[in-house]
Amino acid sequence: MEERGSPDGDPARSLEQAPEGSETPIQVVLRVRPMSTAELRRGEQSALHCSGTRTLQVSPPGGGPDVAFRFSAVLDGARTQEDVFRACGVKRLGELALRGFSCTIFTFGQTGSGKTYTLTGPPPQGEGMPVPPSLAGIMQRTFAWLLDRVQHLDVPVTLRASYLEIYNEQVRDLLSLGSPRPLPVRWNKARGFYVEQLRVVEFGSLEALMELLHMGLSRRQSSSHTLNQASSRSHALLTLYVSHPTPQQVPAVDPGEPPVGGKLCFVDLAGSEKVAVTGSRGQLMLEANSINRSLLALGHCISLLLDPQRKQSHIPFRDSKLTKLLADSLGGRGVTLMVACVSPSAQCLPETLSTLRYASRAQRVTTRPQGPKSPGVKPPQQVEAELLQLQEENRRLRLQLNQMQTKAPGIHGARVAWAQRNLYGMLQEFMLENERLRKEMRQLRSSRDLAQAERHVLAQQVHELQRHLLSACSLPQQGSASMCPCAMGPAASCHAQPLLCSCCHPCLLCRVSLAHWACPQRDCHVPQVVESRVPGHMSLSARPPPWVPPPSPGSSKPPRERNHSDRTQTGVLAEMLTGEEVVPSAPPLPTGCSNMPLTLRGGSGIPNLTQRLEVLTHQVSSSLNLSHSQPQPSENMQSPGQGLPPY
Ligand code: ADP
Ligand code: MG
Repeated sequence: MEERGSPDGDPARSLEQAPEGSETPIQVVLRVRPMSTAELRRGEQSALHCSGTRTLQVSPPGGGPDVAFRFSAVLDGARTQEDVFRACGVKRLGELALRGFSCTIFTFGQTGSGKTYTLTGPPPQGEGMPVPPSLAGIMQRTFAWLLDRVQHLDVPVTLRASYLEIYNEQVRDLLSLGSPRPLPVRWNKARGFYVEQLRVVEFGSLEALMELLHMGLSRRQSSSHTLNQASSRSHALLTLYVSHPTPQQVPAVDPGEPPVGGKLCFVDLAGSEKVAVTGSRGQLMLEANSINRSLLALGHCISLLLDPQRKQSHIPFRDSKLTKLLADSLGGRGVTLMVACVSPSAQCLPETLSTLRYASRAQRVTTRPQGPKSPGVKPPQQVEAELLQLQEENRRLRLQLNQMQTKAPGIHGARVAWAQRNLYGMLQEFMLENERLRKEMRQLRSSRDLAQAERHVLAQQVHELQRHLLSACSLPQQGSASMCPCAMGPAASCHAQPLLCSCCHPCLLCRVSLAHWACPQRDCHVPQVVESRVPGHMSLSARPPPWVPPPSPGSSKPPRERNHSDRTQTGVLAEMLTGEEVVPSAPPLPTGCSNMPLTLRGGSGIPNLTQRLEVLTHQVSSSLNLSHSQPQPSENMQSPGQGLPPY
């Protein structure tokens, strides 16, 4: 069997291979537990086959091609606990912890796949009944090795331990003197995430450490369900702290604070479970949901850590207590070993495949192990290398910062706030943002109301003007044919000539498009139809309307544009007609053609109504002028071409 690291070699050799500062992948060892008696009784088949010491073949039940997964080591159901301990290279991690590194070993897999068994052996058969030495798990074996190793070191070593569980997203101290109570998880720059007021107990012998382990195991939450008689319902973290007190390093550590130095953390994760399969109900279901959620957060962090570009950016370790406490092991300065556990049964294949994929991804995650900050003087080469590394990192971060600032300054700001002021700062930021949005919404609402009121007033004015226009038009033609105001000729003949304008202003009486000269926006477009010429070389549509005063003799100037004073006159006229004050709702028309839309007071534009009002007031004005210059009803009506009033 191939072994990882150099577990049985010379400890000094292991120390030489410290991975300080370099990218170190998470090591993944796969353990396949043997078929259980119950599974065999049910006649379940194995779907997994180990091929060599590092490859696992999975046979799909349908008979398709085998799928292969490769890990640092693969251990089948025949392997003993001692085999697992040796193959995992835990001794090397212990050596690194003694040198001041932060090391983590965690088990991962479906519920009932053997995680707890791998770490601590089978559950105790009764009160005070120790686990037989041959079945002791990785933890007991590491404890024994570490205590032995420490005794043979030249320097004094202080060993301490803490043991906690994360149950329903609450951190509980399994070594607390009273009954466990929820403890807060905090963060600071020096320590990263840590549990406040966690009891850290110093121990000097293997027996004392074993007692702490049993105390924690007995207090840990576990329940029985269809897949496991003693299913762990919480994630449990036992941490050993190793420190070398020197005369300069007098324990300046507060009581209860973990000492500065190396760490060896054993994490027994609660297993993912499908509640439909395990038959969890009530409290069990709540626990299962909480477990699954935190495992999902863990999986999400691992996925993001795998993306080389995203690794530099935000990883949501804060999404769960578990990811907070594993942040350093996954993406930070720790050395990490994952023991993935699976059941061989074909019935469990979906969960097994999910574990295998998860584990395959995890072994591509890398950390940058960092040793302790030694108070001693560093060798110059090391200082120089660190300096270069920091300079490079600094340059890269500046580059990223610039890119982010140009791409999304808002997002960048939020990220910086997140990093610097953490959750509380972010909360404040959201509150300010919400206040700003509320204010903006209030402003939008009030300008919408203003526009609606504006529109209402305009509609009334248009209506009034239409009414007055109709009565003004019908005035001179009493008893004769009705006049069309757009051409000031009889409605039947007023649009007989192809003098239609291409714009959208129809005659208000007969709905036919207005003659070009009657169009209020005639300068913005050309007439649509080729026009017939009339004597005087002036096209009909280009002719001035009947009420326009004749040009001065010899003048070739076209009829002048409407100007502000025209508009004022129009307004006065409208007021005379409606008997109310007519507030101009649009600014004076610009001279010449303009594509600018008409703007209403209050900043809102209602072009249709404004234009209609414009046309109407224009036509009212024309009608009144015409009524003064119009031939008497007794005179013969002529065609529009002939019916131009004498100038
Ligand atoms: P998990 O912690 O993954 O939910 P456990 O470690 O509690 O699962 O194991 C479930 C059951 O399977 C326990 O009864 C345990 O003793 C048994 N078991 C697990 N792995 C092995 C193994 N390698 N050899 C023998 N029994 C095992
Ligand atoms: Mg367990």
